Amino acid sequence: MTTLLISDLHLDPDVPERTTAFARFCEDVAVHADALIILGDLFEAWIGDDADDPAANTVRRQLAQLANQGTRCLLMQGNRDFLMGERLAADCRAQAIPDPTVRQLATQTVLLCHGDALCTDDTDYMRLRPQLRSDGFQAAMLARPQAERVLIGRDARERSRAANANKPDAIMDVNQCAVDDAMDSAGADVIVHGHTHRPGDHRWTHAGRPRRRLVLGAWENGCVYARATATGLELVSWP
Ligand code: MN
Repeated sequence: MTTLLISDLHLDPDVPERTTAFARFCEDVAVHADALIILGDLFEAWIGDDADDPAANTVRRQLAQLANQGTRCLLMQGNRDFLMGERLAADCRAQAIPDPTVRQLATQTVLLCHGDALCTDDTDYMRLRPQLRSDGFQAAMLARPQAERVLIGRDARERSRAANANKPDAIMDVNQCAVDDAMDSAGADVIVHGHTHRPGDHRWTHAGRPRRRLVLGAWENGCVYARATATGLELVSWP
């Protein structure tokens, strides 16, 4: 049983080479796995499951093809694509999974999440997050015409970029207490997440138990993904 985990593809119709890399990853790598788990920020922005652009359509086609070829696909929302819903999952023949999710991987209990909820030092964002995730906000947003949603999304990204440029590096990373608390609640000794774009394999001890945090990398022409097999979990650079 091989499971691959990726995140932070930030697919964008304006950056076609990234979508091409994703398609190649599906055809060359993911097709050989039993499952592919996408831990959020598959898209740079997601205006709703009616999105109709080359990046969205490539994802629909590639993931459905993987499913047809026997690779189960699981989709988690990120902070960029928090409007991804059941209709997209159905189009992709994938399964939507909540953030966080606990799964048995490589004979271990593993906590899977996008990672933004662990960046608790970014207090401005932590205040905003529950609003963006609320049913009321999401329903109001999705009720707007598509063209308007595109503009709102573009404006939100501009403002986020400007705000993040002024934030110190440390507050843009996960908070260690938040990580340990989340792992305590999940009963997990391993956590896999993305979001920070700081790929790494961290090990430490908490309450006498060894713990491990695998951080997935952001995509450019390739990525750093995680692979779980019967023998363990590891990060892999691709290509
Ligand atoms: Mn993110």
